[in-house]
Amino acid sequence: MRLKIVAGNWKMNHYINEAEALITETLHSSPQVAHNHLNIFAVPFPYLTMAQNQVKHHEGFALAAQNCSSFEAGAYTGEVSAGMLASIGVSHCLVGHSERRSIFNEKSSELLHKLQLLIKHGITPIWCCGEQLNDRNQMHHFEVVSKQLNDEVFQLNEQDFSRIIIAYEPVWAIGTGLTASPAQAQEMHAFIRSKIASKYHHQVAEQTSILYGGSCNADNAAELFALADVDGGLIGGASLKAASFVKLISIMHELH
Ligand code: PEP
Repeated sequence: MRLKIVAGNWKMNHYINEAEALITETLHSSPQVAHNHLNIFAVPFPYLTMAQNQVKHHEGFALAAQNCSSFEAGAYTGEVSAGMLASIGVSHCLVGHSERRSIFNEKSSELLHKLQLLIKHGITPIWCCGEQLNDRNQMHHFEVVSKQLNDEVFQLNEQDFSRIIIAYEPVWAIGTGLTASPAQAQEMHAFIRSKIASKYHHQVAEQTSILYGGSCNADNAAELFALADVDGGLIGGASLKAASFVKLISIMHELH
């Protein structure tokens, strides 16, 4: 059975007191987590240790970094390595979020190094893909996502690929209030799953969790999380307040 996941991506938001309160409140207000469910906080680097100290006492919750270096170690001022994240107990890490791709110009070769280093250090990558609005308008969305798959995660061998979680995030839906329709989300998720089956194996495709991201909130999550190939959500704005994040966790809890 695939893991059902609600992951909150805080991006560069909150100071330490708000961060601590948000985690505490979420942990205490969430329903008991089923064995095939996982809730993740993807927090800024300075809060990882604080968050880890809270999350480690709560089964069904995990911690993600939002980025890591594409280098193993050494003279890379300002970078944080996958090995460092592993050494403080971080279990997951975002890779290739659209903001990293567009604002920080991260390219496929760099993202592949990050994926490889995370897997080497036992951290599960949450690999993000998705098309821009122009691509969608020109009906190039499948092509764009195929290329991202081929250039990045499909460069991994089957064993390593089996470690990753995928987040499909149409860029036009991130932080815009525009959400993919259930039909659009299901169509792309099924497409990604079929690509995984052709590249690796049907069983690998069946076991890969594919999350939807892009203005997912308490009003649309029930419809999205109920779709056959949608295994949860990567949530930005709606993960910044405990009440709305807990609502999303509860929706998943009631559905599956
Ligand atoms: C995200 O940042 O991954 C995201 C999906 O943001 P939002 O939910 O705010 O659209």
